Parts: sequence; C-alpha cells; structure tokens
Amino acid sequence: MEAFNPTYDYACELDRQDDLASFKDEFYKKKGTIYLDGNSLGLLSKRAESSLLSLLDSWKQYGIDGWTEGEHPWFYLSEKLGGLLAPLVGASSEEVVVTGSTTVNLHQLVSTFYNPEGKRTKILADELTFPTDIYALQSQVKLKGYDPADHLVQVKSRDGRMINEEDIIHAMTDDIALIVLPSVLYRSGQILDMARLTEEAHKRGILIGFDLCHSIGSIPHHFNEWDVDFAFWCNYKYLNAGPGGVAGLYVNKKHFSRTPGLTGWFSSQKDKQFDMDHELTPAEDAGAYQMGTPHVLSVAPLIGSLEMFAEAGIDRLRKKSLHITRYMMELVISELEGMGFTIGNPLEDHKRGGHIYLEHPEAARICKALKENGVIPDFRTPNGIRLAPIALYNTYEEVWMAVGILKTIMKEEQYKKFKNERDVVA
Ligand SMILES: *Cc1c(COP(=O)(O)O)cnc(C)c1O
Repeated sequence: MEAFNPTYDYACELDRQDDLASFKDEFYKKKGTIYLDGNSLGLLSKRAESSLLSLLDSWKQYGIDGWTEGEHPWFYLSEKLGGLLAPLVGASSEEVVVTGSTTVNLHQLVSTFYNPEGKRTKILADELTFPTDIYALQSQVKLKGYDPADHLVQVKSRDGRMINEEDIIHAMTDDIALIVLPSVLYRSGQILDMARLTEEAHKRGILIGFDLCHSIGSIPHHFNEWDVDFAFWCNYKYLNAGPGGVAGLYVNKKHFSRTPGLTGWFSSQKDKQFDMDHELTPAEDAGAYQMGTPHVLSVAPLIGSLEMFAEAGIDRLRKKSLHITRYMMELVISELEGMGFTIGNPLEDHKRGGHIYLEHPEAARICKALKENGVIPDFRTPNGIRLAPIALYNTYEEVWMAVGILKTIMKEEQYKKFKNERDVVA
C-alpha cells in the first residue's frame, strides 16, 4: 500500500484494494449516515435477519417439536453456536457455549472460580474496566462474606487511559485468589497482553479470566495456547447479533470436572435432562454453565452473523481493522491539528483494539453535532469520543467523510449550540 495521503481519491483507492469490501452490502446501512458505533451495537445484516426469521418460522411450523426438529433444533443450538464461536477465541468447540448475558456469565464464572481459601481471599481487577464488571465482582465478594473495600483490589492507571501490565503483575500478590480483566479497555481500546498475564498469574497459583466484550470478533484470541481459565462476552457489539443478543462464555477444558457455581436444569447432560432427576448430572463441557431455557429468538441472529465471520476469517478482519484505524488516526493528525483533540488509544498495532478514542474537553457536544451531521460516534464520559470503523461494513470513504465533517464542525464551532452533557443513553 502506498504512503498515506489525505485526499478523497486515496480513500477510494483503499476501498478498491479492500478484499472484504463485498460484505458491506450485506448490512442495513442507513442512507446519509456514517455508522461508527459498531463497537457498542453492531448493525443488522441480511443474514442475521434471515436466521431470526427462520427461527421464528420454526416456532410457527413445529411448535414444541422445534426443540428437536427443523434446520436449527433449539435444544442443541447453544452448544452448536459455541462451536461456531470457538475459532474466534482459539478454543475447542466444547469449551464455548452461547448463553446468558455478559453480566450473568461473569456472575456464573466468578461463582465457580472464586474459592477463597486460607490467605488467598481477594479478587484482582482494574480501575478502568466497565462498571458492570465491578458491580458483579463486588457482589460476589460480599456473597462470600467479605468487604469489597479490601477484597476487591483494582489496579490503578498511571494516566487515566491505559493499565500498565507491570502494575497488574506487581499486584498479583499471594492473597489474590482470582483475576478478572478486560481483553480490550472499553474507553482507550488498549489490548491487555492476555498470554503474558495468564502466564504470570499461573506462576503464582492464581486463576484468571477475561471480559472479551471489546475484542470478540475484532481481534484473534489463542486461548488454547495461552491457557486462559475462563472468559465471557456479549455478541451484540462486533458480532452483530442484535440488541440484548445472547452472550457467550469459555471455560478451559482442564476445569470441566468443576461443578458450576450456579446450576439449573440446562446445566444437565443433554440425554439426562428429561429424566427430571433431582440430582443434577452436569454436562461434561462448557454447556454445564447454562442455567435455564435458552432465549431462542434472541440467539437467532447470531447464526447468520457468524457465517460471515467464518467466511471473512478473523485474521483478515483484524488486518483491515488495524489498517483502517491507522488510516483514521493519520487523517485525524493531518486534518484536525490544533483543534484540541488528543488521540487517547494506543498507537501501536499490537496494543490497539478496534476503535479510535479521541479526547476533547467539548467531547459530549461534539458528539451531538456529529450525530446531527449523520455521523454516529459514541461519547464516553468524561471527555471521550469513540469512533469504530468496522472491518465488515465501514469503508475508507466513510472514514474520510467522517473526519471531514468533524473538521467542519470544529471550524464552524457547530458544537456550541448543544449543551456539553451526555444523553441518557450515550
Ligand atoms: C458492553 C459491555 C458489557 C455489557 O454487559 P451486558 O451484561 O451485556 O449488559 C460488559 N462489560 C464490558 C467490558 C462491555 O464492554
């Protein structure tokens, strides 16, 4: 690829060279808008729509027999989709299942893997993670009879953007029982080195799990190699499975002998479930981490969506994502100089997730002005603008136009007509 240049023609040339370009036509993209918020809620694709309609139809056609009949029998769907997700985390099929929500799965996994014993009684997290993770960890600590004020340790950030891996390792003391960290930080988009952190945790006899909400479908994972103990994520961000779409979890097969902390009849071995025995025989794989009846209609869009990930391949998606985020940063540097923006995401490829994070004191109202101009970003308190050019459906031309619109907003001070405060949903 030639050297960066800020012209429109160069953006169009990059689109011509994009071997993933055909996928964008499979998505519902609103005319006149540039959607750069696929890291919060991915767009609907035609294939996801069609798998949702197909499952609706199986209900229409089969009634109760839909559990075992039709193209996607509901009884086996959570495990089947787990198998399709497994390549995205670098795990074996039986280590992944589609169930619950991010927050529910975090509760499930911590209730299984947090076993305070002797001196090891604390959980280690970080101070920049998403709030639901902290709320869930606080309640798990309380359920074990401890006070989160001293039993939930949060590694501090040196600059308010990143978490230094050395600081995490330094905090792996002999009173830590369990570590839960994000794979990619939701604001700055920093990737934590999961392989290294897992190795360091295991050296010290600590179990470790990751929240993959901002990495699943965006960057490759190699959990079999890295030996991560567990992970959980939502499927509605980069994986485009729809608002409230059913989430995923991974459990390392070396832990299959454990009984999940929270069980229900769907934790059962499949062929035993309808024996209706009061003694549970848990499934011998990640399926055991389910509790109740799967949310079949909310899982349905994922079927169609994952077909596209299998075709595109996560390595190709990552390659484009790195290239288009770098392109966006280069445009920001060349076009928005002197306008008060700071690039808050890591610049290095191996540390940068799928979005760009611009900091600006007027961020909240700049986001409102962007929306008024048809560019959809999201605002993250206190001063962040997240912009996610998604490899499957965003183009270089859109990135070029979005940065151009941002430049006009700043030059004309269009943002000044809005209040600098966030909306109810940001
Ligand atoms: C989006 C996100 C969540 C969302 O949790 P839900 O249970 O799906 O509402 C949790 N953690 C992180 C890091 C996220 O980015």
